[in-house]
Amino acid sequence: MNRKHTLNYLTNFFPLQFWKDNKQLRAVCKELDWEDIASDPIQLLCYALRELMWEYDWVGLAAPQIGQDVRIIAVSSWIEKRKESKFDKQTIMINPTITFQSEKTFISEEGCLSLPNIIDKVERHHSITVRYLDESWQQHEQKLTGFNAAIVQHEVDHLDGILFIDKIIS
Ligand SMILES: [Zn+2]
Repeated sequence: MNRKHTLNYLTNFFPLQFWKDNKQLRAVCKELDWEDIASDPIQLLCYALRELMWEYDWVGLAAPQIGQDVRIIAVSSWIEKRKESKFDKQTIMINPTITFQSEKTFISEEGCLSLPNIIDKVERHHSITVRYLDESWQQHEQKLTGFNAAIVQHEVDHLDGILFIDKIIS
């Protein structure tokens, strides 16, 4: 299969979910254990999240956005994406948990693939630490600041059925 066929295949299996009253987007997603992560469907889902995030030219994508109620997100560095657009900079985070969040906050201007044509302001923690598993069951802990921290906060919210429009500051 060439790339176009692969993408058609992935979008058929994992269609993008839209709008705030969509049940898939409002579900609280399930944690995954080792057997889940090693399974073909979850490995395929991780591959799909990377490929589709790249194809949609977005900096983050959460499994519920493509109809899967499991705790997996794909994120791409906000700054590096604009500087060099490296595919291998994309990171899959399984069961991501924010283990630290700064008291200091900032105003993040956000949009979401699942909520077309809405961009608005949300308050996010300026720095966070996120703990997660990769596709090989290795645990990682990463400190993030600014927009990269906001991307992870936005995507982790998706896993609890929370959308950024729930948090818009007027
Ligand atoms: Zn989103």
